[in-house]
Amino acid sequence: MNKVSLIVMLALDLSFESCDKNDNFTPFFSVEDDKALGLQVSQEIANDPSFILLNDAEYPEAYAYLNTMVNNILNSGEVAYKDEFVWNVTIVQDDNTLNAFAAPGGYIYVYTGLIKYLENADALAGVMGHEIAHADLRHTSRNLQKQYGVSLLLSILIGDNAGQLEQIAGQIAGTVAGLAFSREFETEADLKSVEYLAQTEYACDGAKIFFESLEEGGGTPEFLSTHPNPDNRVENITAKADEEDCDTTLSPESGYEAFQSSLP
Ligand SMILES: [Zn+2]
Repeated sequence: MNKVSLIVMLALDLSFESCDKNDNFTPFFSVEDDKALGLQVSQEIANDPSFILLNDAEYPEAYAYLNTMVNNILNSGEVAYKDEFVWNVTIVQDDNTLNAFAAPGGYIYVYTGLIKYLENADALAGVMGHEIAHADLRHTSRNLQKQYGVSLLLSILIGDNAGQLEQIAGQIAGTVAGLAFSREFETEADLKSVEYLAQTEYACDGAKIFFESLEEGGGTPEFLSTHPNPDNRVENITAKADEEDCDTTLSPESGYEAFQSSLP
């Protein structure tokens, strides 16, 4: 992977502003394309030594807990591509990174640093809901369509330009930790998280608990600095929870501490 081109593309990503709304967006990528791109990204990540991925055979307890949480969200009845996407969750070992990210097709990654930092399941469920929303709303495909245009994507899909697919996957793998989504997409994912969690046992404003605990922790992590202001996000999530009139009480204690302790 060419680091210079990654940096250039990251810069392009950050300057990119989208006005697309989900309801008038016609995705050029099919569901199968999203899955193929996500698989490619997941392979790039698996082969990139800067990502230390926890093996589910070695940490069955941690994965059982996390998969139960994700399945609760997927079973909310609000996830459009619940049955089509792979919904594969992977834990990244890095206690210093408070992050999670999603690749197309339902490949979700969450860092040990985030799991250990948060104090309850509801905050993590809020983040998982947010990441599931990025995949389910097909934000990466929408970005690519805007960024590269339909003709380039077409040439990739018909196999004329196979190297380019690899390059795009590499770009996504290289920038996911920086989460280069537009403000609109971040807001969409925050609000969708409320809709998902409203249909689960988790507090529907779990994403808000996440932002508040970051602020209590004394500052916004770097990955959020290019995002909409956390204060605005808390306000938007609160307004959405009011509008949905959903339950914001914390879920019953469900072994979150044991989950944290099961991590290396
Ligand atoms: Zn996001």
